Amino acid sequence: MVIAQVTLEMALRKEYDYLVPPELAATASVGTRVKVPFGHRQVVGCITGLADQSTQTALKSILKIVGTPKLVTAKVLALSRWLGEYYCCAPELALKSVLPQSVRREQDGWRERLYVMVLPAHESPPKLTARQQEVLLAVQAHPPQVAMQELLRLTGATASVVRRLKELGLVEIAAKKDERDPYARETILPSHPLPLHGAQEQALAAVRGAMDAGGGGVFLLHGVTGSGKTEVYLQAIAHALSRGQGAIVLVPEISLTPQTVERFKSRFGHGPQQTLVAVLHSHLSEGERHDEWHKIREGRARIVIGARSAIFAPVEPLGLVVVDEEHETSYKQEESPRYHARDVAVMRGRLEGAVVVLGSATPSLESYHNAQRGKYTLLELPVRADDKKLPVVRVVDMRPENYKDKGPPIFSQRLKEGILQRLDRREQVIIFLNRRGYATSLQCPKCGHVCGCPNCSLSLTYHRHEGRLRCHLCGHAEPAPRVCPNQACASPAIRFAGVGTERVEETLRQLFPRATVSRMDSDTLRRKEDYRRILGDFRTGKIDILLGTQMIAKGLHFPNVTLVGIVHADMALHLPDFRAGERTFQLLTQVAGRAGRGDVEGEVVVQSFTPHHPAIQFARRHDYEGFYEAELEFRSQLRYPPAARVALITFKGRNEDAVAFAAQHVKRELETALSTIGDLILAGPAPAPLPRAESLYRYQIMLRTAAMARLSTRLAAVVAGWKLPEGVAWAVDIDPVNLM
Ligand code: ADP
Ligand code: ZN
Ligand code: ZN
Repeated sequence: MVIAQVTLEMALRKEYDYLVPPELAATASVGTRVKVPFGHRQVVGCITGLADQSTQTALKSILKIVGTPKLVTAKVLALSRWLGEYYCCAPELALKSVLPQSVRREQDGWRERLYVMVLPAHESPPKLTARQQEVLLAVQAHPPQVAMQELLRLTGATASVVRRLKELGLVEIAAKKDERDPYARETILPSHPLPLHGAQEQALAAVRGAMDAGGGGVFLLHGVTGSGKTEVYLQAIAHALSRGQGAIVLVPEISLTPQTVERFKSRFGHGPQQTLVAVLHSHLSEGERHDEWHKIREGRARIVIGARSAIFAPVEPLGLVVVDEEHETSYKQEESPRYHARDVAVMRGRLEGAVVVLGSATPSLESYHNAQRGKYTLLELPVRADDKKLPVVRVVDMRPENYKDKGPPIFSQRLKEGILQRLDRREQVIIFLNRRGYATSLQCPKCGHVCGCPNCSLSLTYHRHEGRLRCHLCGHAEPAPRVCPNQACASPAIRFAGVGTERVEETLRQLFPRATVSRMDSDTLRRKEDYRRILGDFRTGKIDILLGTQMIAKGLHFPNVTLVGIVHADMALHLPDFRAGERTFQLLTQVAGRAGRGDVEGEVVVQSFTPHHPAIQFARRHDYEGFYEAELEFRSQLRYPPAARVALITFKGRNEDAVAFAAQHVKRELETALSTIGDLILAGPAPAPLPRAESLYRYQIMLRTAAMARLSTRLAAVVAGWKLPEGVAWAVDIDPVNLM
């Protein structure tokens, strides 16, 4: 008797056993999706294990196989199991996240198209009309085949003409699998491995050595911006290919630009090691994603480049996983399963015996700490690949006492002069501010009223272009008032506070009327083409000053940019988040990395209201180690990561009392259930830093321990028994990134 353990694709938090009927015995393997009876319904699930006995009774039989057998590899299945356990989520949710929606469809999702092919010439060719002759010639001109649609477009004929040619035995018409290739229209020129400089060579040798030794290993590649980390990745991938293995490269969604993809395609799309590079990201159509995924599963594409979820790509055998910009917060998924792709990558490497390379100019404290204590091997690229110097960073003190009469302006004298100088020299400037809109709030100077969102505890941002106030969290919008909305006051003196990119743009145009200014934030970019167009115009020098949010902070490489201005460096520094300093340090370093990538030395002007803050001062000196030491000290004292691990439980609901009560109740339950975890710190419940969002009140409990795997196992057991009152939802976030 063969029994299959099946995880059903419905919320059950449990596996069920089914009999494998003899006719399916050959195909019903682990990783295969099946249809099974469940109650009065038929549901789809995935076989996660096979056994010859079961503790469950009255077993039913599997009805049929769904889609391609062995859709999930055994190792990815093991990864999914770990994912569910560690992140405290239901196994069916974990399984869903390793398989894209488009692949889980019951019908195979290949697109078929009709193609027309010439048949060998007849002994006695039949007489053709002029029209038929024309179509036949067109088919002959496109060996070995031409798509029906294309043929009709070329000749202006109707399908009946082609069918007539088929009846005459002159052509064949066949439906064929048609692969969608999101990059089909690009022509990509080949690139060749660069001779490595010393530090790159050492890093590559270490990675190759680990691959050859087998058994995996994790490297942290700490290289300043422009140090040539990508070249190391490329040559490490080449090594994996030469060993008959594949590679996965994770890139933050925002950096997955055509430019980035091209660097990989151009190296591997040609020449002796030619291999397909599959790309997985959120802008693919369902069909494209389906095809890319199957190209990988069938082993035709052995290199995968993608955002977060590409870590589950069915590459087999897997030799290398690269996580570029490993410190990026977008690697964390903010809905269940709340996994961190970098940590999943490390686990996948362990399960597959693959080498993992985490790269960054500003590693997360967690990863650098792991390198310091020998869990990861540290590799350093301390200088830029092209011997260009790191830019000079000047911090400008913007505190109001320096501007007694009028308060601080948007642009300091220093930054204004810097911009003028660059414009004179026909060099380019990047201005960075991580806040879109015109003003960050609208406030009444008479009564103090601030226009807030009715659904969230946040102030509304004024968007001048549309004359509206908008909530950047829930999307609520309303017309901007002309007088104070506080009816007792109704003062017309209401005015803007705080600066957004729209206002900075306006000011730039006033100050530098002859310069071409372009703004890039999610308000100006409605389509993918806009992004390309603006970057293209900047590259060719049609734009003098590029202004933008974090969209322009990363990865872009413009040799003619010699000045980067950061309008308000403290923006994220004072958020109630223990990583606020780390984020600011990372952002300043990344933005500064955009300056001086060409022949002229770069300059960065950082405007700050807290100029002596360590995050700003260490960034000014390009001193990562200094920052790490100071920050680790602070984290250790407060037992925050990496000194311990955090689990955050958030409760949400429309009724604040019910939410607070449920949180209180759960806290008492946890105190008992987790009492054996010696180092546990249990804080809360307390209102979340963002106490209300999208009409829901939010309370949090924060748990800290060094033994997270143990905690999440316990937590899963407790959670399974929770019966919270109607209208109160909860979420468990292991290793949270967003604490708000
Ligand atoms: P990172 O990923 O560390 O920011 P990149 O890989 O983008 O750095 O490299 C920065 C620039 O240096 C690129 O233009 C790249 O082509 C170049 N580069 C990298 N390695 C070398 C090398 N060994 N010799 C010459 N140029 C190099
Ligand atoms: Zn007022
Ligand atoms: Zn809102």
